[in-house]
Amino acid sequence: PHDDSTAPANDPHDVIRVVGARQNTLDDVTVEVPKRRLTVFTGVSGSGKSSLVFGTIAAESQRLINETYPSFVQGFMSTPARPAVESLSGLTPVIRVGQERLASTVRSTVGTVTDVNALLRILFTRVSEPALDSPKAYSFNVASASGSGTLTVSAGKGTGRPQRRSFEVLGGMCPACEGNGTAQDWDLAELFDDSKSLREGPFTIPGYTADGWMVQKFVESGFFDPDKPLRDYDEDERHDLLHKEPVKIRMSGANMTYTGLLPALEQSFLQKDREAMQPHVRAFVDRAVTTLDCPDCQGTRLNERARQSRIRGRGIAELCALQICDLAAWFDELSDPRADGLIRQIRQLLTGFVEIGLGYLSLDRAAGSLSGGEAQRIRMIRHLGSPLTDVTYVFDEPTAGLHPHDIDRMNRLLLRLRDKGNTVLVVEHKPETIAIADHVIDLGPGPGTDGGRVVFAGTVAELEQADTPTGRHLHDRVRLKPDTAVRSGGGSIAVRNANANNLRDVDVDVPLGCLVAVTGVAGSGKSSLMTQLLVQSGRADEQERLDVVHVDQAPIKGSRRSNPATYTGVFEPVRKAFAKANGVKPGLFSSNSYGACPECSGAGVLYSEHAAAGDAAAVCEACDGRRFQTEVLEHRFGSASIDEVLDMPVDDALRFFSQQQTSVPAAARALRLLVDVGLGYLRLGQPLTTLSGGERQRLKLAARLGERRAKKEAARTVVVLDEPTTGLHLQDVERLLEMLDTLVHSGVSVLAVEHHQAVMAHADWIIDMGPGAGHDGGRLVFQGTPRALVEAVGTDDATITGEHLARYVR
Ligand code: ADP
Ligand code: ADP
Ligand code: ZN
Ligand code: ZN
Repeated sequence: PHDDSTAPANDPHDVIRVVGARQNTLDDVTVEVPKRRLTVFTGVSGSGKSSLVFGTIAAESQRLINETYPSFVQGFMSTPARPAVESLSGLTPVIRVGQERLASTVRSTVGTVTDVNALLRILFTRVSEPALDSPKAYSFNVASASGSGTLTVSAGKGTGRPQRRSFEVLGGMCPACEGNGTAQDWDLAELFDDSKSLREGPFTIPGYTADGWMVQKFVESGFFDPDKPLRDYDEDERHDLLHKEPVKIRMSGANMTYTGLLPALEQSFLQKDREAMQPHVRAFVDRAVTTLDCPDCQGTRLNERARQSRIRGRGIAELCALQICDLAAWFDELSDPRADGLIRQIRQLLTGFVEIGLGYLSLDRAAGSLSGGEAQRIRMIRHLGSPLTDVTYVFDEPTAGLHPHDIDRMNRLLLRLRDKGNTVLVVEHKPETIAIADHVIDLGPGPGTDGGRVVFAGTVAELEQADTPTGRHLHDRVRLKPDTAVRSGGGSIAVRNANANNLRDVDVDVPLGCLVAVTGVAGSGKSSLMTQLLVQSGRADEQERLDVVHVDQAPIKGSRRSNPATYTGVFEPVRKAFAKANGVKPGLFSSNSYGACPECSGAGVLYSEHAAAGDAAAVCEACDGRRFQTEVLEHRFGSASIDEVLDMPVDDALRFFSQQQTSVPAAARALRLLVDVGLGYLRLGQPLTTLSGGERQRLKLAARLGERRAKKEAARTVVVLDEPTTGLHLQDVERLLEMLDTLVHSGVSVLAVEHHQAVMAHADWIIDMGPGAGHDGGRLVFQGTPRALVEAVGTDDATITGEHLARYVR
């Protein structure tokens, strides 16, 4: 694809040179990465790709950049620890384009996180009819708005107390919902039993016990007859009970403030961080609060005036609701001498969306509802338009969530970044993307301590000849099963009149008792259909006792002390075994007990004060990363101390807890499941925050299967997986398929949204959505066996998915 020689140049300035890298499991890696070229890093999961690209190259570049700031500024940044590497030379500034989901404050949308909304609003202040109020009091420089997209400015409010307000709410926000677009409403039936009086304790709210002071305030306020049932209150009493503004009252001889129930609940429940709530409180909030479109702005987030302003007959809200490809077309027709540059700038951003295959989104789409892959592509738009050159871009599996049909486009964008004079490093498994590399660095041969070495470096042509797992699997092709081998006979789930998002009255019977692949280009409606299935089968639940579980890739909530051992329940029986062997209490080995290292509270690592989730951590010096107090570490089970167990990879731990002298059957069972889902290389104590999306999904699956077995679930289980091959090497995909087969044999129905042809070919049934994305999709374009899908190619029933699958099979 590139005319120059593809091997690293001899000029020392033309390579990034890594010498003696030992981060995580890297085994003294020395390697050269050519600059201004596209290098793909390959290797089985756990072989060390991320440790080299993110943990070493990107981390060191970031650290060196941070070091150039004055130390007081550094205090506000989370600087990664120096990676374990002898030397690195030829580094350029690294920009990491990752798959972290976009910040999801209620206010953030696709339009706000990409600054398109900010530009639109300025456009409306210049050229709309009637003109939108210009936020004159505030000045800001949009051209420099970069990064976070939540540029905040201070705006003095009449009160004299300056308030921080985010940029997008200025000049046009709905005052009722403060730009949220939503309103929250309490379900009164979940708050109190209105047949009871205050003295009888009518409230069903956490903390509102009959004799508690929260309720006594109502009783002693003097506003109510405490013996009258609430349902007999007149209008005034009801208002005082529910809505009264804060007033001073005397209670038990002291001054107190009385506030009506709803404003009080608003303060004590709605303004709190949901994740920080105790589980029963969170459950109460989920039960008692419904979220509606704001009645004032109908969810548009805009005030009256902003809703009235029009450009060529269209209002801001209307434009933000359009699919971006349609909005781009509308902008192509727009010209106005008062805002030439602005229009060009907006047009350029919108074209970026369309080129990157996200034209099916709308600007008003909540940022938090985007997948990791979509978030990564949105970040990419910014960089494609950037005039920076000689930057090192690092990508983590940029094809995640992409149909083979969409991968071509992604490839072109990666090449475009390179051709602007940048160094592009990509961790990727897909043969289609490996094929465009100038240079390939293959790590392995195995995962964990069986890997960590460069087993191949060179061109794609050379890789094809290489005897490494990647070289051997590069041109894998599969045979389709004869239709007679198709498993079925398990009945089906009926989805009827599915209309969520872009779906158009989709009716489909999803077969049970087998492996079903749900396919289609990005934005065609696969996830929408799965969501609908979860909803509708939830209803059938009562009669058929179907248990449908969605195992996704979303981050796992919980403390930073969580790790695969605690999450899957391996640690419980292990702690007990340690306790029994040493005649002490199991609690001693818990990370939230007195046995834990007090410095790091049993995490073994310390996170910087200002670090956001997922940031680098430094090893705790007090315990040297061993997590526990010295006395605790002296207790042994067999030959191992507790920290040594947490340091074991799952594979080793399984062997250890299956041996006669150190047998812990409950732990071995849970560990076996982790091996089955392909996580044998993970260390038991590895913080969950360091796992990739694909690893998280497989971990959740293992935990879920363990629960199912423990409960001896009689109900038929349907597992919905979201691209389970994410992060998997071609060789790992074979193991995943074996695992899915095992699941199916044990009676679990597996439904996988998948783009990987090997999974499609292996599936018993395919549900193909399309034909395009957004309003060009949302239909069922094919259902049947993979063989029938391939056979339809060339007929009127052919689909894009069928064409790609046909190329893959023999
Ligand atoms: P890949 O990117 O090829 O899947 P990684 O570089 O993520 O591989 O992992 C290589 C090895 O290092 C694996 O055994 C993994 O469990 C381990 N590892 C990765 N990140 C960490 C971490 N933060 N702490 C400890 N071990 C880690
Ligand atoms: P796929 O899973 O095939 O990529 P989706 O089901 O995610 O497709 O999306 C189908 C269409 O529905 C797209 O136009 C997408 O923008 C829209 N859509 C998906 N999720 C939401 C949501 N939470 N809110 C609004 N629109 C959505
Ligand atoms: Zn509103
Ligand atoms: Zn410690």
